[in-house]
Amino acid sequence: MQFIETRGNDGTKPSSVLFSEAILSPSASFGGLYVPQTLPNLDKAFLEGHLSSHYKTLALDFLESFGIDIETEVLKSALDRYDAFDDPSNPVPLSKIEDDCFVSELYHGPTRAFKDMALQPFGYVLSRVAQKKGEQYLIMAATSGDTGPATLETFKNQDNIQVACLYPDGGTSDVQRLQMVTEDAKNLKVIGVEGNFDDTQNTLKDLLASEEFKAQLAQKNIKLSAANSVNFGRIIFQIIYHIHSYLELVRKNEISMGEKVYLVVPSGNFGNALGAYYAKKSGLPIEKILISSNSNNILTDWINNGTYDLTTRELIQTDSPAMDILKSSNVERIMFDKFGATRTKELMESLANDGKYQLTKRELAQLREDFDASFSDDSECEAVVGNYAKKGYIMDPHTATCMKAYDSLREKPLKTIVYSTAEWTKFSPSVAKALGQHVTEDTQALKWVSDNTNVTVPAMITELFSKPVIHTVIVPKEGIQDEMLGFL
Ligand SMILES: *Cc1c(COP(=O)(O)O)cnc(C)c1O
Repeated sequence: MQFIETRGNDGTKPSSVLFSEAILSPSASFGGLYVPQTLPNLDKAFLEGHLSSHYKTLALDFLESFGIDIETEVLKSALDRYDAFDDPSNPVPLSKIEDDCFVSELYHGPTRAFKDMALQPFGYVLSRVAQKKGEQYLIMAATSGDTGPATLETFKNQDNIQVACLYPDGGTSDVQRLQMVTEDAKNLKVIGVEGNFDDTQNTLKDLLASEEFKAQLAQKNIKLSAANSVNFGRIIFQIIYHIHSYLELVRKNEISMGEKVYLVVPSGNFGNALGAYYAKKSGLPIEKILISSNSNNILTDWINNGTYDLTTRELIQTDSPAMDILKSSNVERIMFDKFGATRTKELMESLANDGKYQLTKRELAQLREDFDASFSDDSECEAVVGNYAKKGYIMDPHTATCMKAYDSLREKPLKTIVYSTAEWTKFSPSVAKALGQHVTEDTQALKWVSDNTNVTVPAMITELFSKPVIHTVIVPKEGIQDEMLGFL
């Protein structure tokens, strides 16, 4: 199976590549992305065949039917990473919160955010592919909180990969910062940057674009790769849990095989939603994918009006920071699938040059065949968290954005799966506030919420507060390059 380019081919890169190449060098011609040329078939026979399958068995069969150039043994070992999740017999449990509404909990991995679902197996695969080629790779990440910990965790002590992770000093929660600075492995470097997340991300972009930096890396025989969701190696693992969650509903006798469901996906870079789209396209019985956002509701505009306009917006800091995103990278893969490479290139160029684009009426109608969208601001999310806490279910602020979409967007009385992307422990002060208690420190909020509700704090979170801090470097933006070269 080959991977092709969302903006067409520039004549210098190969026009199609294998999976291993697409994940090592994820940037395609004209700044585009790689997408699969074909998708596996999730017909009734496939789904019925996996009705009593373990998550890993389903995943392996799915990955093999994708025809990627990764050996079965490597895939198996990668999937064994799910054995370290809370319940090895089911890494992604489903909780019923309404008669027709179920929460698929994607956060039961080591860093308590859904990033682990894809990054855990992906980290193993990428390292093995790099080893096989005998090449050294550097992964650089700028994080506002969830991507950093999950990236460090998956690559720690993996051969042929080094990771440098930049975070804004003071711009993450205590838990998120500790998850990074206590991570102890020779191939990991964590750097606090003086400034906010935008400063951090811009510094990283400048560094990655700098010829001097590239020359220095080349001299050391180090290549650059990426572990954000522009890398299809993450997306492929994000299709699987949608299939699994559907099968969970069948297993629990909540739906019959073939019955359609709604999915509600709290979205930022649209990786999770893209996984749902590929599952739907492959044949999983999905009525529609409902996209929820916070006040940075550019995706709501895109899906409701066909407008993508950065010129009228500034990033707003919300209680769901992992969704504080305006340039959503995987939207491009949807447009390629629906409108083709020529049009996608035109739209993405217009976004780069004019800061905006507008879909035609016909294009918008095509988009809305699969998607609908709404958003919730912080006070709406706070009310949702408070209401469900009273009913005995604690959710985090990202998951809470989904409930308005569930309440208002469904046109048919079908069962609905809501995706929970983070455990409440990562955002405990917001959760305590929704329950009526004002505390600013993570330690106090964790204690207060667990003392006053039916939830407990998992060991990997409590242990953070007594682990030794390994990474103490905090530098101004100008100091990052030297820190990096010292590390490499
Ligand atoms: C990354 C993240 C999201 C957004 O997911 P995308 O795939 O980028 O749309 C939502 N919630 C949480 C908690 C996240 O960490």
